[in-house]
Amino acid sequence: MAKYIFVTGGVTSSLGKGILAASLAQLLQARGLKVTIQKFDPYINIDPGTMNPYEHGECYVTDDGAETDLDLGHYERFLDTPTSQANNVTTGKIYQEVINKERRGDYLGKTVQVIPHITDEIKRRMLLLGNDGKFDIIITEIGGTVGDIESLPFVEAIRQLRWQLDPKDYLVLHLTLVPFLSAAKELKTKPTQHSVKELQSAGIQPNILICRTEYPLGEDRRRKIAEFCNVEFKSVIEALDADSIYDVPLNLQREKLDEIVLEKFGLTDLPAPNLSLWMDFLEHHKHPKLEIHIGVVGKYVELKDAYISIYESFVHASAKNDCKVKIHRIQSEKITDKNVEKMLIQMDGIFVAPGFGNRGIEGKIAAIKYAREKQIPFFGVCLGMQCATIEFARNVLKIENATSREFDTNTNNAVIDLMQEQKNVKNKGGTMRLGSYPCALKQNSISYNAYWKEQINERHRHRYEFNNDYLERFEKAGMIASGFNPEKGLVEIIELKGHPWFVGVQFHPEYKSTILHPHPLFVSFINAAIQFRNKSI
Ligand code: GLN
Repeated sequence: MAKYIFVTGGVTSSLGKGILAASLAQLLQARGLKVTIQKFDPYINIDPGTMNPYEHGECYVTDDGAETDLDLGHYERFLDTPTSQANNVTTGKIYQEVINKERRGDYLGKTVQVIPHITDEIKRRMLLLGNDGKFDIIITEIGGTVGDIESLPFVEAIRQLRWQLDPKDYLVLHLTLVPFLSAAKELKTKPTQHSVKELQSAGIQPNILICRTEYPLGEDRRRKIAEFCNVEFKSVIEALDADSIYDVPLNLQREKLDEIVLEKFGLTDLPAPNLSLWMDFLEHHKHPKLEIHIGVVGKYVELKDAYISIYESFVHASAKNDCKVKIHRIQSEKITDKNVEKMLIQMDGIFVAPGFGNRGIEGKIAAIKYAREKQIPFFGVCLGMQCATIEFARNVLKIENATSREFDTNTNNAVIDLMQEQKNVKNKGGTMRLGSYPCALKQNSISYNAYWKEQINERHRHRYEFNNDYLERFEKAGMIASGFNPEKGLVEIIELKGHPWFVGVQFHPEYKSTILHPHPLFVSFINAAIQFRNKSI
């Protein structure tokens, strides 16, 4: 029988429920338990795939092709275990399922209502991952803040599950904020009390409170919170602001969060957590031997969450290389042929980000030209790879109007074209080439030397692809395809001969980089950037 932990949040958003859930999962996994995390999002979109990154940050993609909330990225990076379609549920998905059932006539003449029909479907989805014995513990993170109208049915479903599950299989963790008032020079517990009251008025008594705070809570304040919120004293956990998200599991362990959870579940005979690999990573992460500069060129650089998996992949790969990567976020719209040198001169490596639409494209192309000509390590992902193809076609093959069909539907030189199977697609949601596909690597290529494998699997999220009609011309001029989809012959990786490190990938390697397994291409790119730096000083 699986055990369920529900994580809710109060007072404000952005308190780090995702990192909390991932950190707790990490501590439990380190004791040998099989743990997974799922996210329930209150919005009506079926998934975040149709949302602008400014709205929602990055859209994360799973092996089975789900477009999901970026928190699933944190779960995978912390746990080193893949998630799936089932790990992200939205209000949209719940309603879609219920409405489909209603149309089929499954409700046999009944009036279909939020309670019980919507809450029944929510409960079914909440329990789903625990049904086949694959996991011992399922952590469910509820998006949004308690008290929001949107999340009421989720909260009600959690309340009902209290009576459906064995009390030893059910826990509610509530994350709140204890703000510091600088005028009064005091931490204030009232918002936490109110937020717990809000939960209680919905019929839920949290078992454990996690209090985000800038300063130590102190025993008296903990006692006060415990008394006013009806929570055991030891279950009031202090979550001090951490220097890095990777410290959070250890901070929570110091607060004995894992012990308290296991005690409440009656799992008291488990071994102490084995965090040696995690500590190893932290040691390398915190004590780098040198610093390198990487320019991340993209159009969503103002918002860190828009490229979160990319930034995290750099962290994993830099620890592996014992160096610190200083990321320079560069707005592609601001780069021109004239200022490119000034903007990129400091960089030891240039990364061009994925994206959609033509805003900022010319800046990306100018950055790629600069990296190609100056022999600076270059890494392009998805749209970044497509821009590298366009740059090479224009400036080396002299096809001056070369472009992608995405930017000009009538072009006669679409070196990047719409995929065959995309031609009749009308709907935007969930219709891209999504999820994991195999890719065969050419020996002696940079990619092969990074992976040391002939076949890899990587995750995709795109509609356009390299146009094979041009492949021969590209290869003759020095841009080679080093990775192919073995069934369809689609070009998945391009590289430049005679350049120290120039790689463009159609897939998204950043979705598969984890703390324990940094992505080979990011590791190899950082290594090339270190060599570039060593040569230039
Ligand atoms: N817009 C491009 C496509 O759909 C690239 C997508 C991406 O960078 N994820 O093919």
